[in-house]
Amino acid sequence: MSDNPFYEIHDPRFRDLVVSSAALEELYSGCRWAEGPVWFDDAGHLLFSDIPNQRILRWVEGGGVSVFRSPSNFANGHTRDRQGRLVSCEHGLRRVTRTEVDGTVTVLADSHDGKKLNSPNDVIVRSDGSVWFSDPSYGILSDYEGYKAEEEQTSRHVFRLDAKSGQVTAMADGFLQPNGLAFSPDERRLYVADSGASHVPEAPRHIRVFDVSDDGQSVTNDRVFATIDKGIPDGIRVDMAGNLWSSAADGVHCFSPEGTLLGKILVPQVVANLTFGGPRRNRLFITATTSLYAIYTTTTGAQRP
Ligand code: MG
Repeated sequence: MSDNPFYEIHDPRFRDLVVSSAALEELYSGCRWAEGPVWFDDAGHLLFSDIPNQRILRWVEGGGVSVFRSPSNFANGHTRDRQGRLVSCEHGLRRVTRTEVDGTVTVLADSHDGKKLNSPNDVIVRSDGSVWFSDPSYGILSDYEGYKAEEEQTSRHVFRLDAKSGQVTAMADGFLQPNGLAFSPDERRLYVADSGASHVPEAPRHIRVFDVSDDGQSVTNDRVFATIDKGIPDGIRVDMAGNLWSSAADGVHCFSPEGTLLGKILVPQVVANLTFGGPRRNRLFITATTSLYAIYTTTTGAQRP
């Protein structure tokens, strides 16, 4: 058993992933809904979204939080591409963008099949440069975290944007609300969180997993990887050993590559997203409702920009 009040240990393996004496630190409070953390080691800062407040914030160790971009077009999830550039999902303009080194913004995707995207939510980049993003309807449900509008897509997909052609292809569907995405360290698996129970309580609260083809252009073998027992899964990340860390109502849940719940990091607010960062990539940054939290772990994130 752990005496650390921030941990709930479900499997002995969890002890090897966490620092027994570490504390959950609240780094900032004052968001309406914090999301989309992304770490920039070269700049020594973390960016994250405060979606309803129309801003992207920047946290610096010892320097606090400042505004990186406002208005943000209700930006939500972020990642970095293979060149280290910021890639963002924007609810407001229903698009995925890339911020160039000089600060200009390039639109990567805003439509599929001649129709507007719903409201891109979260995004990851594969080693082949392809950009994968989820497209649930949260940003067009009301004027709270986007602009109320009708859905034009036939389904709420996970899309793949080809690095060379720029073509946007639907890769997976059948979700109520596809949300957080992650690849396994070898990129042979794609994980997709379905957060549909946020508005439909009887809906599944699970993370699905797919096998990715050798050429990285299709996915098969759709199955349930794990079910969240408190709240819903939103943002997810995979560590270097292939364990999956998921947001949930009571904190961050950690699952083995086989889908066994290893343990939880308990957080006092509903968690929306997380990312590994810091100079050693062993610090888990957690966006949870009004606040940004962090806690050190003994593992590191799998995804490398
Ligand atoms: Mg999300």
